Amino acid sequence: MDTKSKREIFIKINEAVHNCKKCRLHKNRTNAVPGEGNINADIVFIGEAPGAREDALGRPFVGRSGNMLEEMLRKIGLSRKDVWIGNVIKCRPPENRDPMVDEIRACSPYLEKQLELINPKLIITLGRFAMDFFLPKAKISEVHGTPYRVKSFIIYPLYHPAAALRNGSLKKVLLEDFINIKKILKLDKKDIPFYGNQKDTEEDKISLF
Ligand code: URA
Ligand code: SF4
Repeated sequence: MDTKSKREIFIKINEAVHNCKKCRLHKNRTNAVPGEGNINADIVFIGEAPGAREDALGRPFVGRSGNMLEEMLRKIGLSRKDVWIGNVIKCRPPENRDPMVDEIRACSPYLEKQLELINPKLIITLGRFAMDFFLPKAKISEVHGTPYRVKSFIIYPLYHPAAALRNGSLKKVLLEDFINIKKILKLDKKDIPFYGNQKDTEEDKISLF
């Protein structure tokens, strides 16, 4: 698909998200946060849900976690505009509580469509929650920094910058994993293991879901 048609579909998705009332989270939002960045990016970052600043501005990762993400991107020679950044959940949960199962179910078609259109080489999940969306039941302490194939995608789970900001030793681990992004991008897909017991036959499906 050419970039112009892709951009038009993204505009439609953004409109749908801004008007969405498919779950209770629409009631308390100031702004929905559909995600933003390069729709032809090789790398996509997926976080959990908007926080206070994201809700105020309608943009993903614009608070302290976002500053840290930008700082780490600089270390590998990239900036926000080189990647696409989004969240599993598009509206801020009250008091930043964990999203609920029915909210995830209502919201996930947006992310699924976005990922199908971008078709990135690498999906980097930030934190336990986004990891669980792609690698259900994985333990972040065990899988962080290891790439897995999930259908046609490669998922690279990392700790959340917010966790790293609270804990200096996690920050060190996150930075080490982050620096490896360039290496992971160069890996031959065939050398990356499937997550769980998925079969190779599923490989040629374009969509994750
Ligand atoms: N934390 C997230 O998980 N997502 C954001 O967009 C900001 C902070
Ligand atoms: Fe719609 Fe997702 Fe917002 Fe719920 S969180 S209202 S499903 S955009």
